[in-house]
Amino acid sequence: MAKKKTKSKPRERENLPLKTRLIVLTESGYRCAVPTCRNILALDMHHIWEVSAGGSDDPSNLIALCPTCHALYHRGTYKQESIYAWKAMLVAITRAFDVEAIDRLLFLESCKKDFLVVSGDGLLWFGRLIAAGLASVDQKSNNNWQIVTYAVNISYKGCQLIEAWKQGDRTRLRKVMSGPVPGGSAISP
Ligand SMILES: [Zn+2]
Repeated sequence: MAKKKTKSKPRERENLPLKTRLIVLTESGYRCAVPTCRNILALDMHHIWEVSAGGSDDPSNLIALCPTCHALYHRGTYKQESIYAWKAMLVAITRAFDVEAIDRLLFLESCKKDFLVVSGDGLLWFGRLIAAGLASVDQKSNNNWQIVTYAVNISYKGCQLIEAWKQGDRTRLRKVMSGPVPGGSAISP
């Protein structure tokens, strides 16, 4: 990951331009970037590559963390490698889909199989995730096919992605993201 070296003095987070903050916050959906947290309150701007080590104020070097997770990182609970993985996931997901895609995927992951049944309109919300092989869809029928509904589930690939993301495993994350879109037979326990 190429970083611009700057010779300027360490800056306070408060001095970051509003535009920069908005880009970073939008990228994380105004939530803490730690996948097991996703807190929406009072987000800090964390320099992935520390300012004291020459890290820039570019959005590519910033990640939104809630104060608790920010403190946990500086205490060493979260590793730098995990921060890289979480940032990579946000960048990839927001560019490939939109800022809400990651929360939709997390929601699907939290649902029991066939819990979410939607109409044709509702299916559109998951269209991009389905097209990318991260979610799967099965047609259901009600009232002798008078109403057609669809069960949306997270796919095996989607589960792998969420797992790698939560673990902060960049290598695995890259492998899942770049892997082929699985067909129906790829669903495995
Ligand atoms: Zn957090």
